[in-house]
Amino acid sequence: MLARMTGPRLRPTLLGVPAYRAGLPAPAGAYKISSNENPYPPLPSVTAALAAAVGQLNRYPDFASDDLIAALAARYSVPAAHIAVGTGSVGVAQQIVQSTAGPGDEVVFAWRSFEAYPIITAVSGATAVPVPLDDDDRHDLPAMLAAITERTRLVFVCNPNNPTGTAVRRAELEAFLDAVPDDLLVVVDEAYCEFIRDEQVPDGLDLYRDRPGVCVLRTFSKAYGLAGLRVGFAVAHEPVAEALRKTAVPFGVSTIAQVAAIASLAAEDELRARVEQLVKERDAMAAALAEQGWRVPVSEANFVWLRLGARTEEFADACAAAGVVVRSYGITEALGGVRVTVGEPEATERFLTVAAAFAPR
Ligand SMILES: *Cc1c(COP(=O)(O)O)cnc(C)c1O
Repeated sequence: MLARMTGPRLRPTLLGVPAYRAGLPAPAGAYKISSNENPYPPLPSVTAALAAAVGQLNRYPDFASDDLIAALAARYSVPAAHIAVGTGSVGVAQQIVQSTAGPGDEVVFAWRSFEAYPIITAVSGATAVPVPLDDDDRHDLPAMLAAITERTRLVFVCNPNNPTGTAVRRAELEAFLDAVPDDLLVVVDEAYCEFIRDEQVPDGLDLYRDRPGVCVLRTFSKAYGLAGLRVGFAVAHEPVAEALRKTAVPFGVSTIAQVAAIASLAAEDELRARVEQLVKERDAMAAALAEQGWRVPVSEANFVWLRLGARTEEFADACAAAGVVVRSYGITEALGGVRVTVGEPEATERFLTVAAAFAPR
């Protein structure tokens, strides 16, 4: 006789997993500037490569993503053995947590920052240690250093930070890396590095070369405009890179994702021109907001952060009514605000009209 039915026993840690709030889809006629997506569609050379690969979809992908890894190794002058690819850099980040932290271990990250960090930490059963941003919406690296204990296994530094756009500079990040214990891993999440124009912001790949405890995370989702295909990668020394290969979902990166990523690397000059245009529009958006009287942190990414506190929800609703969907955060908190992606120029215009009506004068 079977025991009284209680349903399958799930891991209790799942009760503590926060839900991911994805950027809302835009209704017809509205613009979605809520997910930091690239407003440009894939390049013709990329869609051609995709079309050619579609006929092979009865086959499994290349298990090791050898061609993509070779292309990345050549592009970034790193050994192929130091590269691990995954289903978006969120997928790779989850592999990193699985490889480093379980129950009883701690994962340190800034807060507010990328909302996947607390989720993947909780799924792994580890304890999240969020460290508040400073008053300028920047990572507080001294406070993060102070938050490290002997249980800490992993630290995320989101550079530039999602959702505030702020970036840490070379000297402060190097000082932080030099001070952390050498038995824990520091991930520098550079999802938006192609949009950085501040020359004092370091390239994580320069930091990783001499530091076995640093892992750099990159993605094809933002500057490369392939968010729908789910491909990202990490660069780290052995044995970290090897651990990421072990924790990968077998065949997770599809053939079309591999092919499109390779074609995008080959078309980098064209894609960089688009990024340059978005950077110009970002800076113009920030300047227009400053002109309206807003204090906006300098963004090194493809979005800007507007702190609204108690008016966050009202502001987001006004944007929706004007036909632009923005991403709101902490609508009940003093630190609440909206993150606005640099998308179509018409979307920026609509957003700025709403912002003008709310401007602090
Ligand atoms: C968008 C983003 C990513 C990339 O996610 P993918 O899974 O590669 O699409 C990673 N980190 C941060 C901070 C992001 O904002």
